[in-house]
Amino acid sequence: VARMTRQRAALNEAIEDVPEFRSAQDIHRAMLEKGDKVGLATVYRGLQRLADSGELDTVRTGDGENLYRRCERREHHHHLVCRVCGKAEEIDGPSVEKWAQEVAAGFGYADITHEIELFGVCADCRAAAS
Ligand SMILES: [Zn+2]
Ligand SMILES: [Zn+2]
Repeated sequence: VARMTRQRAALNEAIEDVPEFRSAQDIHRAMLEKGDKVGLATVYRGLQRLADSGELDTVRTGDGENLYRRCERREHHHHLVCRVCGKAEEIDGPSVEKWAQEVAAGFGYADITHEIELFGVCADCRAAAS
């Protein structure tokens, strides 16, 4: 139990105050570099648990990889993510919310959820590349 608690604390520390979306491998590597002795499978499980409980935001990249970040906003929002550096903006999509409700209601569906994320290359990464 003590070991589990320590690993959880280490994972929480690893995702605290990091502005970029990162993969489980990236987070695991950062923890190893800091001296946290933790397995990749444990990191995966821990991240999934935090994502399930809404403490962690996830986005899925075009190649199907999950990226994780702790967002400042707990309420529903969307992300604009740099696919080079992982930096992300938290964005609202009022027309998307309206569209989702209206389309679903038109088919008689209720209790609608959606996940819409935007990916691109941020201004810093474009400047660095040119
Ligand atoms: Zn970038
Ligand atoms: Zn939305």
